[in-house]
Amino acid sequence: MKHLILLILIAGLAPGLPAQPGFDAWFEHKTLRLDFVHAGGHAGEELFFDDLMEEPFWGGSTRYLVDTTGYGNYLVHLRDLATGTLIYSRGFCTLFGEWRGTTEAKQVRRACTGSVVLPYPKADALVEILVRETRTGRFEKKFEHPVRVHDDFIKRERRATYPTREIQVTGDPARRVDIVLLPDGYTAAEMEKFLDDCRAFTRGLFSFSPYREHASLFNVRAVMAPSLESGTDNPREHVWKNTLLGASFYTLDSERYLMTYDHKTLRTLAAHVPYDFIYVIVNTGKYGGGAIYNHYGISVSGNILAAKVYVHEFGHLFLGLGDEYAEDGAYNDMYPLDVEPWEANLTTLVRFESKWKDMLDAATPVPTPLDPARPDRLGVYEGGGYAFKGVYRPRQDCLMRTLSGNDFCPVCTRAIVEQVHRYAE
Ligand SMILES: [Zn+2]
Ligand SMILES: [Zn+2]
Repeated sequence: MKHLILLILIAGLAPGLPAQPGFDAWFEHKTLRLDFVHAGGHAGEELFFDDLMEEPFWGGSTRYLVDTTGYGNYLVHLRDLATGTLIYSRGFCTLFGEWRGTTEAKQVRRACTGSVVLPYPKADALVEILVRETRTGRFEKKFEHPVRVHDDFIKRERRATYPTREIQVTGDPARRVDIVLLPDGYTAAEMEKFLDDCRAFTRGLFSFSPYREHASLFNVRAVMAPSLESGTDNPREHVWKNTLLGASFYTLDSERYLMTYDHKTLRTLAAHVPYDFIYVIVNTGKYGGGAIYNHYGISVSGNILAAKVYVHEFGHLFLGLGDEYAEDGAYNDMYPLDVEPWEANLTTLVRFESKWKDMLDAATPVPTPLDPARPDRLGVYEGGGYAFKGVYRPRQDCLMRTLSGNDFCPVCTRAIVEQVHRYAE
């Protein structure tokens, strides 16, 4: 790890150098994908090896290699096998992890596929996956798998080939946030509609600050992969459509939660272009969507609220921003009150100094009482992370709380800008 930090430092001291010694010493410019299965229930999960694949592009940064954010309920490490040196890491979350928090997971044990994508190592390496223990907030190593880079059984075939389109390309993927847009429930005859919806997504995302000011640091590409049928599944209304990604309303039995469990197809489609983040657009006018940190995001195409939904969901996907609202329901006690959440915009005041304490002026009481006369006052307001008590948010309203306003609070804004720069430096 020391070795790598030094290399990053050298790269940082010599701006404008075309070569990145850290990256090129360890990696080739393509992707190693490891598929796994996780299985379990409320009490815990186990991870099992499934498959290794080589994919043609590396869309990630060549400078931001070791994750410094602490974001996510999972953490993947890639180590050089010979020396143990940590050469890449990234936090993420999963739909399976969310499912483990439901009441169903207290009665049922289930399995789910997942995957991690890594820059392709030049020498034999070790993939480790750590899972955060909810009750303590600490990571525990649950999985490791050695990768022999010359192994004949690393799959190199392309499982699917579809045309791709550039919606907005501003520069080298190594120095941009790269979004890949995937269609679900658009037939071959509706591919032009999908392209229109991709343009609407891009316009929508970049019409809100701070994305607007940073639009030139983003690339957006689309994969033109049609489904056999138009629309999406709605189990409670007995509507089933044959679509490529199999997205469905009522995920975790929540009407608006529109997600897919078919992670392998997601990755296979995304691999058509260099990417950091996967966003699916589902061809339906019914309101819904969802997004999971560094996993994937989904929104619907034709809804009046679409642009605000895009930015809200993208906040979950891109940097794991927490929901700043409180509601009665299954997630009420998602955040243990004696653990500081890792989300940048929520606090339990256990370690508030690690959050936005530095942004408060000295006169602001902590917690801060609601004051309708000062809606923009930055403070520490009770109610957030689905809980009415004990979890706090930075401002009375924010796009991570309701869609009635037009901006992110200053805490979300700062965290978004920092994340853009990690991926786009
Ligand atoms: Zn949300
Ligand atoms: Zn916020």
